[in-house]
Formats: sequence, structure tokens, C-alpha cells
Amino acid sequence: MRASQSMTSADPTQHTIAIVGGGLAGLHAAWQLQQRGIAFELFEARSRWGGRILSTPESGIDLGPTWFWPAFQPRMSKLLEMLQLPSFAQYTEGSSLLEHWNGQIARYDGPLMADTSLRIAGGCARLIQRLVDHLPSERLHLNATVESISIGAEGISITVPAASTLPYRQVWLAIPPRLIPAIHFAPALAPATVNALKAIPTWMAAHAKYVALYDKPFWREQRLNGDAFSHVGPLAEIHDASQSGYAALFGFFRIPHGERASYGEHALKAACRAQLARLFGPQALAPEQDHLQDWAQEPHTATTRDHANGHEHGIASLANVFPTPWQACLRLIGSEAGSDQAGYMEGALHDIDTLLNSA
Ligand SMILES: Cc1cc2nc3c(=O)[nH]c(=O)nc-3n(C[C@H](O)[C@H](O)[C@H](O)COP(=O)(O)OP(=O)(O)OC[C@H]3O[C@@H](n4cnc5c(N)ncnc54)[C@H](O)[C@@H]3O)c2cc1C
Repeated sequence: MRASQSMTSADPTQHTIAIVGGGLAGLHAAWQLQQRGIAFELFEARSRWGGRILSTPESGIDLGPTWFWPAFQPRMSKLLEMLQLPSFAQYTEGSSLLEHWNGQIARYDGPLMADTSLRIAGGCARLIQRLVDHLPSERLHLNATVESISIGAEGISITVPAASTLPYRQVWLAIPPRLIPAIHFAPALAPATVNALKAIPTWMAAHAKYVALYDKPFWREQRLNGDAFSHVGPLAEIHDASQSGYAALFGFFRIPHGERASYGEHALKAACRAQLARLFGPQALAPEQDHLQDWAQEPHTATTRDHANGHEHGIASLANVFPTPWQACLRLIGSEAGSDQAGYMEGALHDIDTLLNSA
């Protein structure tokens, strides 16, 4: 494994901070450390970067997060500006639809969302790729699930499959708090710490998205903006997902995780196409391609607890969650640990100087 060779052959004095998790939080922290000349290694369990951020290849339609709100999310706005990534407003021209229990479809003027929602041009995965492009590849390790973290005489060691790393001064955990107890800690985390971590829901972990791409945004020709709420389903909330050069609709499922699994992907996609046709017309039955992304089935995002209550934000206080001896060497930097806007992309953008000053 190339990554482990570079991990074990590097100068130990260069190993300052180990970052666990290569989603937005981990990559953003790595980029800030890189800018300050502070050495790090980043370990990501999946075979791709981005965590909950995922866009369709080429078309860049988002299968994870879609929007940010500059009115109250200044860090996202600033980051996109620094990385020179353009954004654009969610399409809102025309009427929205409401599908009632009895099957009647009502039309309302205007969009369903009150605040101006912005999208990253080319999809949120562009933000991830831009961060990766700014980082030294030899410090980034994919397929590297951190299995254990232990305190030794020389510092903190972590193990990933088929490799153990040189000691670090600190470990920054950029993963959902509920996934932390799956890591073996030596000495063990206190039961109260484990319970506190498990109590934090992972935002959107129970959800699934359906995306359908078309040759043109035909709903706009009917003065429909693509917004729809439904009491019938299978999708509860639908929006225009079009990007420059690509016409698309997306929806969040109203069918809960357990039921989704029993339907299977083929049947779910067919039911989604039928619903879009009821709402927007028969052209919706024949997308050029469609995608289903079920986050509840992703073990590096969701736990069984999230299946039960993944609809809440991780707003419980995590201050002082790690008592001695871990207090000095572990930091929580994922979105759920955000000081504000926890659960959102904004929550994943931690102030690095605060983290370093607490080191
Ligand atoms: C369907 C959906 C819609 C959303 N919509 C929005 C939206 O519109 N706007 C918004 O702001 N936010 C939205 N969000 C939330 C947003 O995606 C998250 O806030 C953000 O992406 C979290 O980033 P993160 O880096 O903290 O965590 P994650 O993206 O979860 O990254 C954690 C990473 O850690 C890795 N990992 C886990 N365990 C280990 C281990 N032991 N070792 C190594 N690596 C590990 C995982 O593989 C993952 O890559 C949405 C999320 C979903 C799923």
C-alpha cells in the first residue's frame, strides 16, 4: 500500500496532526494547516473524498448537500470566494406544486423556500476537488479507515488497515460523533463520553435523494419552478437541480430508511419517475439517466441510531466531551461539532486558529 509506505518512511517530526475523515471538515482543516506550514496526515475511510458531499460525475448534480445561505453562512461564502468557485441562485421562477393526500395537485405562486439558496456551479463536489488539488497528495490517504487511536510515550498512534503510523501530537476527528465509538481507543473512552458522542444525530444521515436528468427543463415551459411538496410520495420534497448544460429534478424521499430497503432501487426509481410525471407531465417518465443515493446505507455516514432519528441537527454541546487524558490530544472538527450551523457545510468550517490555540 503506497500510502502506508509513505506514512512509515516519513520524518516523525513532520507528523504533527492526524486528521481522521476526508469530508469538507477534514479537507478544510488540512488546507488551513497547509497554509500555516503545519504538518498533517489525513486518513479517509472511503475510496473517494467528500464524505456526505457527492455530485454526479460530469453533470455535477448534487446527491448530498445542494445549498448554502450567504445571509447567515459567511464562512461558506468566504471559502468559495477564496477558492474562486462561482455560485448561482436556486431556480425559483414560476409556481410550486403541492400534492395532497387525496391525489389532488395544487399550484401556488412562488418558491417553497423563503431564504435565497445558493448552489455551487458544477456541484458541491467541485469544492472538495478544489481543496484536494491544493493539498500534497503524499499527505492524503484514501481507503484508510482509522481503526484505533492510542496514547504512547512518544505521542498518539493510530492504526489503519495494514499499517500503523508514527506518533502525532494531536488527532482531529472530522467524522460524525456517532462514528467515533467504532474506533478502538487505548486507554478506553469513558462510558459518559461514548454516550455523549452517540447522542449527537448525524444531519441528513437517514435521508436518500433521487435525481433525474432530462434533455431540457420542460417544467419551466409550464411556468413551474420545479418545487413540489407531496403527502403521497415516494418523494416528499422536490426541486429543480439543473446546472449549466444539464436539466434535472431532485427529491428527498418521504419513505423511511427501512421501507426503502424493502422496495429495492429499481422499484423506487420507477415510483419516483411516476410521481414526477404526475406533477410535471409525461416527459418526466423518461429521464436520460437517474440516480438514487441512500445515505442511510452508508456505514461511514449513518448508524442504526441515525436510522431512527437522523432528522435532527447535532446541536448538543460537545465542549469538554473528552476528559483527561484525551482532552489534550483529541479535537472534534466535523460539522456536527460546529459552534454554529452544526450539521450544515458551514458547521464543518472550523476556525483553525481557535483549534491550534487550544492545542
Ligand atoms: C442528502 C443530504 C443533503 C444535505 N443538504 C445540505 C445542504 O443543502 N446544505 C448544507 O449546508 N448541508 C447539507 N447537508 C449536510 C452536509 O453534507 C454536511 O454538513 C457536511 O458535508 C459534513 O461534512 P463533514 O466533513 O463534517 O462530515 P462528512 O462529510 O460525513 O465526512 C466525514 C468523513 O469521515 C470518513 N470517516 C468516517 N469514519 C472514519 C474512520 N474511522 N476513519 C477514516 N475516515 C472515516 C467518512 O468516510 C467521511 O468521508 C446535507 C447532507 C446530506 C446527506
